[in-house]
Amino acid sequence: MLSRLSRLPISSKWKLTATSCRQYSIEADLKNAYDVVIIGGGVAGTALACSIASNPFLQNQRVALVEAMDLTNTLNWTPTQDKYSNRTVSLTPGSMRLLENIGVTEHLSPGRANPYSDMQVWDGVTGARIHFDATTLQTHGMTSMNDTTSTIAYMIENTHLQHALLKRLEQCRADGAQIDILQKARVADINQGTKDVEDSEGLDLSDWPTVELENGTMLKARLLIGADGVNSPVRKFAGIDSLGWDYDAQGVVATLKLDSLDHHTAWQRFLPTGPIAMLPMGEGYASMVWSTKPHLAKMLKSVSESDFVELVNAAFRLSHVDLDYFYKQLDNNYDGFSSLASEVNWRDEVMNKSNTSLPPKVIGVQEASRASFPLKLRNSEKYITDRVALVGDAAHATHPLAGQGMNQGLLDVESLTNVLVQGTCEGQDIGNIHLLRNYASDRYVRNIVMISACDKMHRLFGTDIAPVTWLRSFGLSTINSLDFVKAEIMKYAMGVEYNGTASHHH
Ligand SMILES: Cc1cc2nc3c(=O)[nH]c(=O)nc-3n(C[C@H](O)[C@H](O)[C@H](O)COP(=O)(O)OP(=O)(O)OC[C@H]3O[C@@H](n4cnc5c(N)ncnc54)[C@H](O)[C@@H]3O)c2cc1C
Repeated sequence: MLSRLSRLPISSKWKLTATSCRQYSIEADLKNAYDVVIIGGGVAGTALACSIASNPFLQNQRVALVEAMDLTNTLNWTPTQDKYSNRTVSLTPGSMRLLENIGVTEHLSPGRANPYSDMQVWDGVTGARIHFDATTLQTHGMTSMNDTTSTIAYMIENTHLQHALLKRLEQCRADGAQIDILQKARVADINQGTKDVEDSEGLDLSDWPTVELENGTMLKARLLIGADGVNSPVRKFAGIDSLGWDYDAQGVVATLKLDSLDHHTAWQRFLPTGPIAMLPMGEGYASMVWSTKPHLAKMLKSVSESDFVELVNAAFRLSHVDLDYFYKQLDNNYDGFSSLASEVNWRDEVMNKSNTSLPPKVIGVQEASRASFPLKLRNSEKYITDRVALVGDAAHATHPLAGQGMNQGLLDVESLTNVLVQGTCEGQDIGNIHLLRNYASDRYVRNIVMISACDKMHRLFGTDIAPVTWLRSFGLSTINSLDFVKAEIMKYAMGVEYNGTASHHH
């Protein structure tokens, strides 16, 4: 049972129990006891640390942020003109608002997070198209952040976002927040606390998880957060199962150079092998995410840069039958497909003579920017146990076709912060499972809805069987003609479902 004193933040309890701690000396151990230990300094973990440190009700909490990697390069990151990292995310206005509320956006490099206001999504088999743009939003009384009424989402490099989060943490620490950042610190083991750490004055650490780092350091956590990604060690310690499957697919990413300076339109085409997206990063540059079969992903990474560029153009502009033909040619005997560029060009001219709604042409790929990631669907069987909560990819992972994974993680952070504030204001122990249930019940179903929606899209478009393609073509055209439905989809995808403050309904 939790004692009277374990309701207090560590900072105040520390003084009360300093002289009477039986087993643990202050030097060696109480200084390693924290109200919140966050494992994982990715975006979800760092954002949670910022969110706690920025909240007036949580500022007394002692927090440790533990990250296996060296964060120095990310902290020192500076933008390079005309060069973009290949790891990027599309952040919804809802996520931007959260980042603004916790003081992060002021640390972003001006002009480097690129807002887009137009999105073209179409079916590579039937050509059916859905077009989201500012008009849909405005005619349905929906606006996004501040005055930028037409923003659907912001494209940002992961390292840029993480850089801003770390800068904000530095600022919070300078302002007195009690946050220890332990980097290059890998978790070796996590154990349940033992009975012999009970204190005569009531500081009861017996059920607090103990985190053992590879360098031997031990940390005690009133509340342990798993923000440690899809293979979460915290989730394993907590005995929580992760449900789901691996898609037979890889997400190939690359930074593309375009023949157009437009940087306000996102393009996504669904091919039977998976969707390909071109997401605008800045004038003349886009980030590509091409979900495809593993053997094609391997081929896309190994062909020459010029052939890769042609294949990307073909994937956006030609029929999937043409694409299959190119894949076969490349698979059979690859030592440079000498006629690929001309084949793509003449087919493009024949096919797209009068098609005005095609994306810009790709004219180059940034050196060494091609990489691929396995795609998974996961949802943890639960998000909490006593003194443990999971956030971000540790709790759930989704297909990137709707660009929602990190946005979901940030919504987790917002929700968990609200629950911790509630607990603190009511004098509850923030590790208590009854309190944490509020977080789980807020996020669990919402995350499942998003994960299943992405999965259904993936399945619906992953075929070229005629009745299915006919139905989905009908579905897309119908949605496209119903602005109200489109506005609702956009609202959902823009992350304004959470508490609606990013939108104003007139
Ligand atoms: C191709 C692709 C495109 C995507 N596009 C989008 C998009 O457009 N929009 C979007 O919202 N999402 C997108 N996502 C998803 C998004 O990238 C993830 O949801 C997000 O990065 C997860 O963040 P996280 O902090 O939860 O986990 P992670 O980034 O995995 O961070 C976990 C951290 O924990 C640390 N860690 C792990 N184990 C230990 C240990 N034992 N000890 C100490 N530290 C440890 C790791 O080093 C890591 O830093 C995309 C994903 C992919 C693959």
